[in-house]
Formats: sequence, C-alpha cells, structure tokens
Amino acid sequence: MPELPEVEFTRGVLARWLAGRRVDALTVLAPKLVAPSAQKVAQALAGQRFLGAERRAKYLLLSFTGDVGLVSHLGMTGRWTRRPAGEALRHDRLQLALDDGHVLHFQDMRMFGWLELHPASALATLPVIAALGPDPLRDGLDGPTLQARLAGSKRAVKVALMDQAVVAGIGNIQAAEALFRAKVDPRLLAGALTAAQCAAVAKGVHQTIAHTLASQGSPQVKDEIAYVEEGGENPFLVYDRRGEPCPVCRTPLARLTQGGRSTYWCPGCQAPPA
Ligand SMILES: [Zn+2]
Repeated sequence: MPELPEVEFTRGVLARWLAGRRVDALTVLAPKLVAPSAQKVAQALAGQRFLGAERRAKYLLLSFTGDVGLVSHLGMTGRWTRRPAGEALRHDRLQLALDDGHVLHFQDMRMFGWLELHPASALATLPVIAALGPDPLRDGLDGPTLQARLAGSKRAVKVALMDQAVVAGIGNIQAAEALFRAKVDPRLLAGALTAAQCAAVAKGVHQTIAHTLASQGSPQVKDEIAYVEEGGENPFLVYDRRGEPCPVCRTPLARLTQGGRSTYWCPGCQAPPA
C-alpha cells in the first residue's frame, strides 16, 4: 500500500511525464473514482497544460492552466503508468491522453484510489489537506515537534504515528520501520514517550522514508512504482519478516496486531528485559 515515499516517487514520475504537456482528453473507465463527475473533469482538463505536481502526505496535487487542479489518491493499489496511445491495461480506471502521443493510465485493482477536480488555486487549502499534520519530507519533523503532537495521547505510539493529523504520510509499514530504527516498543503509550525517544522516532521516520525512496529508484529514470505486496523485493528491515533474525540483535522478529493492522517488531531491541 502506498505511503509517503511511494507517493513522492509517483509525484516525481508524473512531473517528468507531464512536463510541458497538454491534456488532449480524459477517458474515465470507472466513474465512481472521479468527482464531481467524469464529464465535468474531462471537460475541465481537455486542452489544459500541466503546470506542476506537489505532494501533501499521501495526496498528489496536480495543477494545470485555466486554474484546473486535481487531487489524486492512490488508495491501496493505485498506480500511474505511461504507454503509447492505443494500449489497454489491466485494472485500467482512467486514461489521460497527452499531446506527445502518450497515455497516462491510472490502474487500480482494489479501486480505493480517486481523483477530484478543484480550482488549482484552492488545492493547498482544501479541508482534507489543511487537516494534515506535518509532512516529514516537506515540513520536517524533529523530537520536540513529535513530542508536542503526541502529548496526552493514550494510544499506542505505532497507532498514533499512523494518524494523519499527528504526522502526515506515515502508514503501517513506515510506522513500524521507524519504531524499529528508534528501538522504541510499538506498544508504548504515545503520550508517555520521553524527549529522547521522540527524537529517536523522528530520526527513524526520516531514515525509513529516505531508505524507501532510495529502494524505489530515481523517478527521473524509473517509471514503475514498486509495491512489496505484489512480489517486489522487500527493502524493509522488519516488515513481513516474522521469524527472521533481527538485523541488529538476531532475536527472531515478531508480529502483533494493533488497531487491526500487523506490526512487525523486534522484542529484543524494542522491549529489552528490564
Ligand atoms: Zn533486535
């Protein structure tokens, strides 16, 4: 499932594909993914030139001439793919035909992704964007900031980190990886973390995002986003590695369930016996 690094990779790829391009036509194959309606979005986009792609947490903000803006979310399985005109792809939901003869396809097996039309000038202030906490890549994240945002929280720190209003862009994998790197027990109450633990978690967040971005390759060269759930190589330290030896202390890695999601962790590094 795409988290901040995968969406950032997608932003870079889309910016390269769309640079200087004009949209000739939008074809909507799955109308329920598009708002306010397939017809309205297609009418607004046709003939407009791309101006820029930004990312806020897991949202892509695309701007075009004519004050046309799009918010795009990849959902669970969404991906943008570029092909020469005339090709049909599996799980094809949207097709954006460009003036250079390419078509950008939005493929989405599970159909939790979506695309919304808004004025480009209003994208950054949409309620869904304004409600986000700090984005580690864009806004930075340090120990004191994280401690302030976790203050008073009675939730487990792993669950709190996945709250987009606390820190934006972090999902199940990045939260577990950051806590492993910080040697912090994912079950600890978020509001009880010490300043040193918060500093370590903030550092862990930056490290795991950088590591995941590097594992995707350069968006200036590579076209395809890699999802580890689809059989891609697992670049993570603990995710989906239950039973394997911890890369630091060799204790077998474990899995527990928090908020309905699997947390992979090291009982040796992250909860050393007192
Ligand atoms: Zn360990």
